[in-house]
Amino acid sequence: MTAYRAGLGYDVHRLIEGRALILGGVEVPFEKGLEGHSDADVLLHALIDAILGAAGLGDIGAHFPSSDPSIQGISSVDMLTRVMEMAEEAGWHVENIDGTIVAQQPRLSLHTPKMKAAIATALGIEEGRVNVKSKTTDGLGFTGTGEGMAAYCAVMLARQQEARTRETGAEPDGTSPL
Ligand SMILES: [Zn+2]
Repeated sequence: MTAYRAGLGYDVHRLIEGRALILGGVEVPFEKGLEGHSDADVLLHALIDAILGAAGLGDIGAHFPSSDPSIQGISSVDMLTRVMEMAEEAGWHVENIDGTIVAQQPRLSLHTPKMKAAIATALGIEEGRVNVKSKTTDGLGFTGTGEGMAAYCAVMLARQQEARTRETGAEPDGTSPL
């Protein structure tokens, strides 16, 4: 039988001058970039948290603490591949990914196909399993004023496992046989 686990990730970074804007593993031309210890890729951080959540492996801060000097300037694609390796060791693979970037500017719809391709390549999965959307907030809140960007990501992981009936006599859903 196949077991499925859903995960949800959320992340926020401040927009500042003098930084490259990296989103979904892609550099997007813009006058500002996101602030952070790594490349501050808000979408990939939300994706990493979603994978860790679905696999029951905690969160990004536990695996990549900002106090650790070795992650200074680390590429979020590297963080993503490391986290996916952990999930794969536990038998999980990605069924599908659905992410949303919340930003007033720049216009991201031109860049989301490249992000989709970069994520699929980093994870070694078909592009059809990855969806990336972008959204504005009509000028409302910190994303609307351009103070920062946010991202949400949902992930479904799947793994093959033995039906429990063979070991315990219980039904796969955990109920006892009548
Ligand atoms: Zn982050």
